[in-house]
Amino acid sequence: MSREVCDLQPRDGKTYRFYCCGPTVYGPAHIGNFRTFVLQDVFRRSLELSGLPAFHVRNLTDVDDKTIRDSQASGRSLKDFTDHWRDRFHTDCDKLNLLRPHLEPSAVEHIPHQIAMIRELMEKGHAYASADGSVYYRVASFEGYGRLSRLDQRELREGASGAVADDEYDKDSVSDFALWKARRDEDGANWWDSPWGQGRPGWHLECSAMCREYLGDSFDLHSGGVDLVFPHHENEIAQSEACSGHVMADHWFHLTHLLVDGGKMSKSAGNFYTLDQLETAGFSPAELRYVLISAHYRQPLNFVAKDADGKETFPALLGARQALQRLAKFEAVIGAKAGTPDMPTYDTLLAAKDGASFQSAFESLENDLNTPEALGRVFTAIKSIKVDTLSPKDAARERLGFHRVVAALGLRLPVTGEQAAEAPSEIQALAEARRDAKAAKNWAESDRLRNEISALGWEVKDTKEGYELCPKN
Ligand code: AMP
Ligand code: ZN
Repeated sequence: MSREVCDLQPRDGKTYRFYCCGPTVYGPAHIGNFRTFVLQDVFRRSLELSGLPAFHVRNLTDVDDKTIRDSQASGRSLKDFTDHWRDRFHTDCDKLNLLRPHLEPSAVEHIPHQIAMIRELMEKGHAYASADGSVYYRVASFEGYGRLSRLDQRELREGASGAVADDEYDKDSVSDFALWKARRDEDGANWWDSPWGQGRPGWHLECSAMCREYLGDSFDLHSGGVDLVFPHHENEIAQSEACSGHVMADHWFHLTHLLVDGGKMSKSAGNFYTLDQLETAGFSPAELRYVLISAHYRQPLNFVAKDADGKETFPALLGARQALQRLAKFEAVIGAKAGTPDMPTYDTLLAAKDGASFQSAFESLENDLNTPEALGRVFTAIKSIKVDTLSPKDAARERLGFHRVVAALGLRLPVTGEQAAEAPSEIQALAEARRDAKAAKNWAESDRLRNEISALGWEVKDTKEGYELCPKN
C-alpha cells in the first residue's frame, strides 16, 4: 500500500497470517500463474525458515463468469468441471514443490457467508438492489476507494456513475460493481436462493467473505498477481472495510507478470505454456521453478522460449538445468565430506538458525524477498568454500546452511549431478523404441531416435543394464 519496504510483524505477535487469491479452476494454470504461486510459496518458506510460523489461506475460485461459461460449453456440471481442474492444479503444485496452504476454501462452499456480507453492506448503506434482483456495491459510499491502486479522485468522480455486471473491467470504468448477480438463462443450473432472488455472487465478494471467516476482520498480508490490484483488491478492501470498520490487511504483496518472449502470454499468440507442455518438451518442474524465481517479484520476468529463428529451444530452462546441476554437485561433495547421507528434512531446517556461509543468501530473502540476489549469493558461497579443507563437523554446518536457503527457495535438487530429472514418458517411450531398434540391429533407426531424444533435451547413454536417460547440459 505504501510502496515502501517495511518490517513484517504478525498482528498477534506469534503467527504471520496471510491470504492469497487462488486459481480460477476452469483450465490448466499457466506458467505465469505459477510465477505468482511459486513466489508466494518462497515468501511463506522464508517466513517459516526465519523462525516465524505462518498461516496461509488460498482460495479456489470455482464459481464466476468463466467457470460457468466453460463448464456449460463442456457439457459438465460446474462441480465436476471445477473439481477436475482443481485436481490438475494440485498435481502441478505438488510437482512444483509448493507447500499446500493451511486452508483452501472454495467460493461455492461459502455462498451463505457471501449472502450474509451483502446483507450487512446493504444495512450499512454501501449496497443497493437493482430492479432485476442484482445487488451492487455503491462505490461512492466508501471513502477510501482507490487508495491501493491510487486512482485519483477525478477518475473516481467521473467513473463512478453506472453499474457494471462483469467481474473484470478496467480502471477507466470505475463503477458500482456486482455483489449479487440475478439469475440469467445462460447460467444454467448455477444459481442459489437469496433474499434478493435467485442468482450467484459476484467474483470480488468471495475473498472478502473467506478472509473474514478464516482470518478475521484484519490480518497480516494479502497477495495476488499485479492484475488483481484493480478492480479485485480495491473491491475486496471496499467490501471488507465497509463491513468491519477495520483495516483489512496490513500489507499487500503483488507479483509482477511473467512475459513470454517479451510479450503477454496468450493462447492466440501461441506462447501460452503449461507445466505439462514443458515436461513434454523434456524439462523438469524444478527447472521451471528455478526460472520463475530467477527475477525479483517486482520486476517483470521474461521467459525466453524461442531462439532467434523462432525455434522453441527454451534457453532459460537449459540454463536452470545447469544451475541445478551445480547445486546438486555441491550437495554431493559437501554431503560426502559431512558423512551424513540423508538430506535434512524441512522440519530439521525449521529448527536451524545458523546459515554458515549461506547466511547472506538467506538474508537476501528476508530483505524484500530478493530471490535473484539469494541465488547469486548461494553460488558465491559455493565457490568460496574449500570443501577438502573442512572438518566433517564444519562440512555438516555448511551443508545445513546450504539446505536452509535451498529449502526457502523450494528447489528440489537432482539426486546426483547427472540425473537432473526423471525423463517424461514420451522420452522414455522413444528410448524404449531405440533399444528395440538396436536389438534388431536397425542402426539407422536407433541413430534417428537418439537424435530425436537429443532434440527434446535428453541424452541417452548405453549402460550394462540397458540405457540411462540424462538431461542434456
Ligand atoms: P487466475 O487463475 O486467473 O485467477 O490467476 C491466478 C493468479 O495468477 C492471480 O494471482 C493472478 O494475478 C496471477 N497471474 C495471472 N497471469 C499472470 C502472469 N502472466 N504472471 C504472473 N501472475 C499471473
Ligand atoms: Zn481475491
